[in-house]
Amino acid sequence: MRALTLSGHGGLDQLAYRDDLPEPTLREPSDVLLRVEAAALNHLDLFVVGGLPNVTITPPWIVGSDGAGIVEAVGAAVTTVRPGDRVIVNPGTSCRACEYCLDGEEPLCPRYRIYGEHVPGFLAERVVVPERSVRRVPPEVSPESAAAFTLATLTAWRMLLTRARLRPGEQVLIWGIGGGVALAALQIAKRFGATVWVTSGSAEKLARARALGADHTLNHHTDDVPRVIREATGKRGVEVVVDNVGEATWSRSLQALGRRGRLVTCGGTSGPMVQTDVRRLFWNQWNILGSTMGSDDEFSAIAAELSAGRLVPPVDSVWPLAEGRRAYERLASGAQFGKVVVRI
Ligand SMILES: [Zn+2]
Repeated sequence: MRALTLSGHGGLDQLAYRDDLPEPTLREPSDVLLRVEAAALNHLDLFVVGGLPNVTITPPWIVGSDGAGIVEAVGAAVTTVRPGDRVIVNPGTSCRACEYCLDGEEPLCPRYRIYGEHVPGFLAERVVVPERSVRRVPPEVSPESAAAFTLATLTAWRMLLTRARLRPGEQVLIWGIGGGVALAALQIAKRFGATVWVTSGSAEKLARARALGADHTLNHHTDDVPRVIREATGKRGVEVVVDNVGEATWSRSLQALGRRGRLVTCGGTSGPMVQTDVRRLFWNQWNILGSTMGSDDEFSAIAAELSAGRLVPPVDSVWPLAEGRRAYERLASGAQFGKVVVRI
């Protein structure tokens, strides 16, 4: 079987294309065997190359957290999909028995695992996943869209709707438009009737964000982002900030946040340690919210959005599997607008 694999931790030179890996087989009655049509990269995949605390990989390790494909075979207990169906895959799996799983809060499961990070990923011709990890999508959804969709949309959906409880008419600030989660957050916020501010250091990315529905665009290198927002909102600020940048933006996020505002984060790409003035936190009655991945119910909800054509992920570029390393280089460059996809 062909796959893109990691030979060890380090740089992108550890990525190797191979054609001699064993084919996976059905193990449990609830298993589904997929022929992967396309996979997509996330920042997580770059972190896996470099190595993550408490994550051990066994080379040759198949990489890639996002994938979609056609069902080829199913175990005897599978009822929701059948051979020939196109499916998307939830990048996270959980134990289904702990208190968090029983509450429908799967990302909090102590045994939560992510494909490509804790278990082999999707940059391969075939994978076996449990039935509960797949949702059928109609054949009109392209393989590239299906692969590009899930991790970023699931993450942004939980952040905005479940955690920040975004309401129609509210104003949202999203830092760094161009990445998968930021773009999914823009699309979801517009879909639910919010007014959206986005930032980028690139005028071209801001123009493309406007075409996707962004109401206000700011260059975070040249514009004083919180000042412009406070002036434009009559000093009120925004109700919700999506900040995955961390150290470089945190203070400005809080300056832009209005009373009873919610700041929601799923990462800190510029660094993890941030400062918050606790007096402003209590006086303004802010909520600072962490979020990661999404639950099984949220996965079902976004699958319905994709199937209905209401949320379609922007795709930056599509690469053949044998050039998977170049796809990683594209992601690492930060120049992309939308998802970097690998066609299997
Ligand atoms: Zn659990």
